[in-house]
Amino acid sequence: MTSLISVDDARSRVLAHVTPLAPETVSLSDAAGRVLAQSANALVDLPPFPSSAMDGFALRAADAPGTLPVVARIAAGRPAGRVLAPGEAMGIATGGVVPEGADAVIPIEHVVEHDNTIDVGAAVAVGDNVRPRGGDIRAGEEAVAAGVVLTPARIAALAACGVAHVRCGTRPRVVVLATGTELRSPGEALAPGEIFESNGIMLEAALAAAGAVVERVDAVADDEASHRAAIERALSADVLVTSGGVSVGPHDLVRGIERSLGVEEVFWGVAMRPGKPLSFGVRGSTLVFGLPGNPVSSLVGTLLFVRPAVLALQGAGDPGPHYSPGLLAAPIRCNPARDDFVRARATWGDDGVELAPVVGQESHMIVRSAAADALVCVPRGDGTLAAGSVVRYLPL
Ligand code: AMP
Ligand code: MG
Repeated sequence: MTSLISVDDARSRVLAHVTPLAPETVSLSDAAGRVLAQSANALVDLPPFPSSAMDGFALRAADAPGTLPVVARIAAGRPAGRVLAPGEAMGIATGGVVPEGADAVIPIEHVVEHDNTIDVGAAVAVGDNVRPRGGDIRAGEEAVAAGVVLTPARIAALAACGVAHVRCGTRPRVVVLATGTELRSPGEALAPGEIFESNGIMLEAALAAAGAVVERVDAVADDEASHRAAIERALSADVLVTSGGVSVGPHDLVRGIERSLGVEEVFWGVAMRPGKPLSFGVRGSTLVFGLPGNPVSSLVGTLLFVRPAVLALQGAGDPGPHYSPGLLAAPIRCNPARDDFVRARATWGDDGVELAPVVGQESHMIVRSAAADALVCVPRGDGTLAAGSVVRYLPL
């Protein structure tokens, strides 16, 4: 690992190797959280008709103030079926069709109602409380742009526009493979020297949330045959993510075996802490990530590189990671050679988010990291960042 590449460079190189998967048609009911691969257009004007914004009375603005007969009552979904004539009013519910001839709605609270007349005391302006047809969008216009994740608001927008099916990026198939003879699953008994395996389940959670279809295979021991068999099988996926075995020790077998199986390494070693010995390569269209085994290193590599790749495979226009600005609550000395990704507690104060580093920043301390809300990027450099410095962070 003679020359480390920067975090930004590593991210760019990963994304440069992503070819989005061919999109597929998905029922809107199954599309929440997925990436919209093709922009979706409204099938109708929205609202589809001039509709009332209030429970009240439809009238002509020119007839107010005055006393007007109430000639019909319009419920939502049941148009009046006739034109409103000069001097008339019609009761109307929120969402009701404003009848032809009316140009305003006066709220029920603003009139005095008698048996079948209303007294309108004040002037009314044309357009008051009327939602014009097409005020939100016109039929044929783009309701949601390609490349974005379908959030609840976007799903609702598409439904409102009458869209029943959308083109979404196909979910990438991701195989997650932990390596290490010492690894046991929670629920098993630990023999001397063994630890519980925690990277696989972390990766599965992070990548499934990003839209991947994740297959977590059994952890493999640090011998060539087990590594080779598992890696060879896994290379049929869109993405292979291994954890462990990418350092320089005699038991670090992942890169050599991948190379012998035709994986072309794009880089190994990123100027960051934790997570430096991260490897990335490709075989055909398969993306191959080798995350270092320390749990926090694996977590950081996942958030910085694997998650963006999974989103980009689905056609995300801006796959992240998306940093937010925050203020350091305590000084931090910069690392001269590597960007430091510091786990911090976030509190939301008047001046923005305050980020207080948690105690226990070593790369094996996943439990300390679990108490943090934020992964703070402390750029490499010579000095110390003072308390109050603006930094960028990723939510954890
Ligand atoms: P490695 O990158 O294989 O040298 O592993 C670095 C450290 O991370 C060692 O202490 C491993 O025991 C630990 N480790 C490796 N893989 C995992 C895993 N899947 N879950 C928890 N700890 C791991
Ligand atoms: Mg290992």
